[in-house]
Amino acid sequence: MSEQTKYLLDERDIPEHWYNITADMPNKPLPPLHPATHEPIGPEALAPLFPMELIKQEVSAEPWIEIPDEVRDIYRLWRPTPLFRARRLEQVLDTPAKIYYKYEGVSPAGSHKPNTAVPQAYYNKQEGVKRITTETGAGQWGSALAFACNLFGMECEIYMVKISYEQKPYRKMMMNAWGASVYASPSDRTNAGRQILAQDPDSPGSLGIAISEAVEIAATNDDAKYSLGSVLNHVLLHQTVIGQEALKQMELAGDFPDIVIAPFGGGSNFAGISFPFLRHKLTQGKKLRAIAVEPTSCPKLTRGVFRYDFGDTVGMTPLLPMYTLGHTFVPAKIHAGGLRYHGAGVIVSQLLKDGIIEAAAVDQIETFEAGVLFAKAEGIIPAPEANHGIAQAIREAQIAKEEGVSKTILFNLCGHGNFDMASYEAYFAGRLQKHEMTQAEIDAAVALIDTPAIPG
Ligand SMILES: *Cc1c(COP(=O)(O)O)cnc(C)c1O
Repeated sequence: MSEQTKYLLDERDIPEHWYNITADMPNKPLPPLHPATHEPIGPEALAPLFPMELIKQEVSAEPWIEIPDEVRDIYRLWRPTPLFRARRLEQVLDTPAKIYYKYEGVSPAGSHKPNTAVPQAYYNKQEGVKRITTETGAGQWGSALAFACNLFGMECEIYMVKISYEQKPYRKMMMNAWGASVYASPSDRTNAGRQILAQDPDSPGSLGIAISEAVEIAATNDDAKYSLGSVLNHVLLHQTVIGQEALKQMELAGDFPDIVIAPFGGGSNFAGISFPFLRHKLTQGKKLRAIAVEPTSCPKLTRGVFRYDFGDTVGMTPLLPMYTLGHTFVPAKIHAGGLRYHGAGVIVSQLLKDGIIEAAAVDQIETFEAGVLFAKAEGIIPAPEANHGIAQAIREAQIAKEEGVSKTILFNLCGHGNFDMASYEAYFAGRLQKHEMTQAEIDAAVALIDTPAIPG
């Protein structure tokens, strides 16, 4: 046998706490504002939508938050996840860099999303909630939440963007297999949905409309609450099991990364892998680059503005201080649905503002080239979102080669692409296009933002 390629941990190594990076941030995130009055809001404003325990986590300043035993017990179904040294990819690239990846595709839903779906369902159950509503685009979040609700015997009601509902039936069937009810959005079940249908009976739907439907059900039914799969602080918090495990695995490998890389939609899998490493940068001055990778067609981190904006399209949520392209911005229809969100999580935005993390943007053609290269070398077919992280890792490995220096690179392989083969088909058939926004398009999007600026 040659050198080690796979680093496994024991069930007993599943973290006992989630890591809350806000405790160690030099500048704390600014408060959310009320959507109408623009005054700072307190935690109680979120109570109609979320259970109290999750709201407490949302505003917590504690560095460590205990993971309930029931949640750790379920994590054991797929955690700890493996960490690999990508030796074959290193060979193909002929790079002196060492490349590692943490693989989150081993979860039942095939991505990192169950790491937060399970605790969210758990806390809702604890507080007597019977039904959880959510929206889903391509279905990655919906399937994770369906899986989690089923484990706790709760109803799960999912508003799936109609065009995905019709074009991507397999993730819908996964949700059905786990017992969730899935409705094509816009639906006739809500005022928001009926309003859209009255204007356009053939509306293909959008994530913004689906959010409005899921939120309306939660806000108007005492037994129902709403759940979100990214962006919010408590979601990022739950994902830190990824990085804590990876820290231990890198220790087993006798390495510490110079660069940690992850794809970026709202920030949850990026936070999950990078925050436990960034703790060493923030508290011990350890050198480390953390790079969030977004599509060039939705470049909020690299080309957006830092200001207050809504989380949804319609403008119902509190205003959050974030990097954004504007809540009405509609990105081009690229094949990484999970990365087509207009804004970024509050914590990640503040870290970027303060220069603690970096961001990069990659075009979708380059991401599929990277994904196919990776699949040939390492076997796993990555989710189109994950290909963004892989593309950046390859860029860094090539820089290492040009400079003739060895670097240690770690990236998050946040999900497999087994349900995304239609995207690969489009790529192989040459039907994918390059999508780079012009400066005029960026300026036009940003000019539409009419929400409050950030002071200072
Ligand atoms: C949802 C999703 C993303 C984007 O969301 P983040 O919160 O930024 O992690 C990326 N990759 C996969 C596989 C996803 O399912």
